[in-house]
Amino acid sequence: MAKYIFVTGGVTSSLGKGIIAASLAKLLQARGFTATIQKFDPYINVDPGTLNPYEHGECYVTEDGAETDLDLGHYERFLNTYTSQANNVTTGRIYQTVINKERAGDFLGKTVQVVPHITDEIKRRMQLLGKEGKFDIIITELGGTVGDIESLPFIEAVRQLQWELPEEDVVVVHLTLIPYLRAAKELKTKPTQHSVKMLSETGVHPDVIVCRTEEPLNNDIKRKIALFCNVKQDAVIEAMDASTIYEVPLLMLREKLDLICMKKLNITEFKEPELEKWKAFLDKLKYPKSKVTVGLIGKYIELQDAYKSILESFIHAGAMNEVKVQVINIHSEFITNENVAEKLDGLDGLLVAPGFGHRGIEGKIIAVQYARENALPFFGICLGMQMAVIEFARNILGLSKAHSTEMDMNTPDPVINMMEEQKKIKMMGGTMRLGSYACEIKEGTLAHKIYHDTHITERHRHRYEFNNSYLEQFESNGMIASGKNNETGLVEIIELPNHPFFIGVQYHPELKSSVERPAPLFVSFIEAAKMYNEKKSGSKIHSVQDALI
Ligand code: GLN
Repeated sequence: MAKYIFVTGGVTSSLGKGIIAASLAKLLQARGFTATIQKFDPYINVDPGTLNPYEHGECYVTEDGAETDLDLGHYERFLNTYTSQANNVTTGRIYQTVINKERAGDFLGKTVQVVPHITDEIKRRMQLLGKEGKFDIIITELGGTVGDIESLPFIEAVRQLQWELPEEDVVVVHLTLIPYLRAAKELKTKPTQHSVKMLSETGVHPDVIVCRTEEPLNNDIKRKIALFCNVKQDAVIEAMDASTIYEVPLLMLREKLDLICMKKLNITEFKEPELEKWKAFLDKLKYPKSKVTVGLIGKYIELQDAYKSILESFIHAGAMNEVKVQVINIHSEFITNENVAEKLDGLDGLLVAPGFGHRGIEGKIIAVQYARENALPFFGICLGMQMAVIEFARNILGLSKAHSTEMDMNTPDPVINMMEEQKKIKMMGGTMRLGSYACEIKEGTLAHKIYHDTHITERHRHRYEFNNSYLEQFESNGMIASGKNNETGLVEIIELPNHPFFIGVQYHPELKSSVERPAPLFVSFIEAAKMYNEKKSGSKIHSVQDALI
């Protein structure tokens, strides 16, 4: 039977519960246990798939095609294992299940209530992965902050589980903030005391308190928190602000967060943590040998979380190449033919981001043209790939009105078109082409050099596709489809063989990049940017493709 660790948050949101949960899971994994993390979100949307990135950051897609919270991305990147639909549950999904059961008559005339029906469904889902028998430890992150009205049923479910499961099978970790008052030069414990009090009033008592802080917690402060919050002093864990999220597992190791949890869980046999690969990655990340600058062309650039997995993939790929990757966010809405050279000046590579809708589209197309004409390494993801196709159609094939039917229903040249099976879909939620699909790669192409393979699988999230009736025209003019899905014939990868590095993919390689397995496309793109940077001062840029091993 699996053991359960619940992570709650107090005082304020954005304290990094996801990173603490992922770090704890990493340490337990490094000590030889199989761990997974799940996130319970208190909002009513059935999943975050229909949310605007401004609302909730990136939507993270799992192998099985679930549209989930971006914290699942952190879990996968830290643990190097996949999550699934079961790892992300929202209040909306809980209610949907209960209401469907009610309509089916499953409650036999009973009044359906938050307690016990909603909390029963929450508890069932909290234990689903635990009952599969695949995991020793299930870490459940509860979204929201203690005291919020909407997280109450989740907290109540944890309270019930604390009683129903054997005592040594449940740990509650509460993450809070210890603010530092600069004027008084003092750390303040009162918000933490209040937050723990509020949690206790709902019947849940934390076993461990993790304190986010800018300044180290001295023993007096730890003693005070222990005393007022009714935990042992060694269960008060200091979580100092770190220079990178990837340092947090090591900080938590030093603070013995894993040991204190294992003690409560009555786990007595474990090995020294195996973190050699992690430490080697961290070393490369902290001490890069040089720097490259890449432009991220998108329309949600004000919000870092909108492109979370792309930014993290750059970090993994940078460490692999021993370079610091400086990412310059460029708003596509403001790129014009007149200012493109100035806006993209100084870049060593250009990534055109995924997205939806017509805002900022023309700027993306202009940026692609600049990269194509100036031998600047180019990498297009999903919508970014579609923009590269449109740019090529307009400027090389002479189809000046070519477009995607997503932006222009009446274009005479729909080089990007809605997928056939999408045309009959009316509902928005969970209906895109989602999750993992296979792609066959042509030998001798850039894609083949990058993946060292002819068969790959990558994750998807789109409704539109390359229109194959134009393929011959594209290929005879220099843009080739180097990757396709054999079953459907959908083009998955396009590239320009006569360019140093120009590749666009219909899928999202950023969703499968982890610390221990950086996404090959990102690694090669950064390598290409590095070579571009090194050769920039020289007169001629040679083919980066030849140098890729
Ligand atoms: N809007 C495009 C489509 O639906 C691209 C989606 C994306 O970039 N994820 O096909």
